[in-house]
Amino acid sequence: MYATEIAEKVRRGELDPLAALESALERMARHDGLIHAFLQQNPAARDEAARVRERLDGGEELPLAGVPVAVKDNISTRGLRTTCASAVLREFVPPYDATVVERLRAAGAVIVGKTNLDEFAMGSSTEYSHFGPTRNPWDPERAPGGSSGGSAAAVAAGMVPVALGSDTGGSVRQPAAFTGTLGFKPTYGRISRFGLVAFASSLDQIGTFARSTADLALISSVLMGHDPRDATSLEEPAPRLEPNPEAARGLVLGVVRETVQEGNSPGVTAALAAFRERLEAEGVRFVEVSLPSLRYALAAYYLVATAEASSNLARYDGVHYGSRAAAANVRELMKKTREQGFGPEVKRRILMGTFSLSSGYYDAYYGRALKVRRLIAAEFARAFEEVDLLLTPTSPTPAFPLGSKTDDPMEMYLSDVDTVAVNLAGLPALSIPAGFEEGLPVGAQLIAPPLAEQRLFDAAALFEAATEGAFLQTAPLE
Ligand code: GLN
Repeated sequence: MYATEIAEKVRRGELDPLAALESALERMARHDGLIHAFLQQNPAARDEAARVRERLDGGEELPLAGVPVAVKDNISTRGLRTTCASAVLREFVPPYDATVVERLRAAGAVIVGKTNLDEFAMGSSTEYSHFGPTRNPWDPERAPGGSSGGSAAAVAAGMVPVALGSDTGGSVRQPAAFTGTLGFKPTYGRISRFGLVAFASSLDQIGTFARSTADLALISSVLMGHDPRDATSLEEPAPRLEPNPEAARGLVLGVVRETVQEGNSPGVTAALAAFRERLEAEGVRFVEVSLPSLRYALAAYYLVATAEASSNLARYDGVHYGSRAAAANVRELMKKTREQGFGPEVKRRILMGTFSLSSGYYDAYYGRALKVRRLIAAEFARAFEEVDLLLTPTSPTPAFPLGSKTDDPMEMYLSDVDTVAVNLAGLPALSIPAGFEEGLPVGAQLIAPPLAEQRLFDAAALFEAATEGAFLQTAPLE
């Protein structure tokens, strides 16, 4: 059932929130042994569901009444372990809820559990999890994408209608594309990051997954808006998103030449062409635009992201947070805690980031990456003087086989080639299921100017209506 339906039925008293939860739990019990989307269930979920009924009876208005939600395990949940899929936080129980979790609870949602990710959200396949990979519900031999692979798989498998992820370089959009779900990353600052474990603070945004545009708008609207506890939170009011297909007719979409020219698999190319045709038939106009600096986006992203990560991850020293190695003195304590607590990809990033920030290399690497970042933002701004939205693939290929990229970091990084520039520029974007390649979902990415989230949802709604939701199916599990 969709989140919109659950909330409405629960509010009208036609559906017991406990029953909605039980059906999510049943689906998890049946499939999560194979899929491994969840790292843990919320033991308090039943109590929380029971309270929803009482709150409604008490006259509260709950936009997400009784909706089961999955939350990525780098988002703080009070009293519920938040591990970031890392050994260093394996027993960490936060003393507070992230703002997004507070808002979900206030809206009547029921948090069913915490989902798997690449350690500290560093990766593109969910294989760099300390607790083992998540499998793609469309083909269990393939990766669900990452780093929010657990949340994407939980939605794709029909365990929950909606879920939270985080997107630093594509970690909501790319797994959405790989699992045939909708994935939304708002403008930087639109959704509070208070309680999101920091990876690269100038890029990190919380995002959402769903299987319909209406559901995606519903949960995203609950989360968006100013939060005084996050210094980067935008003051602008965030009006409720109301997907309106009619408003999308007459929009001008710019196809980004650099992202469709080469390097995409045939199914991705075909899906993008079909996406365009479908929307053209609905009165959307397409033009071609060029963003030449995009070719430097991946390099700039991996410099900025690792530099910030190396600084953010300094706090895991065995003193302040998480697990603590046995040691004779403080120096050894920090060394051993980090050596034993971090996996290889996280260590690689700390090394790269420390290197690019070190004196003598700063100007050549980190400093230049910042300049490229500004160029990219300027090119986007110029493009948006001519078009309303930009269109690119979400990723150059559909989901790849498990194990096929874990030994080659460069190959893994390349699956983010179409998503990272959006984070560098702080823009809102959405991945829309737009086709299949040999039975695997393919995603199209729409990018909007800052704060123009509504436009993304209008276009997504028009595509969904025009295709009658043909690409928005639950994965065919047994
Ligand atoms: N895959 C990218 C990386 O590894 C993006 C990760 C993310 O968005 N959290 O950095």
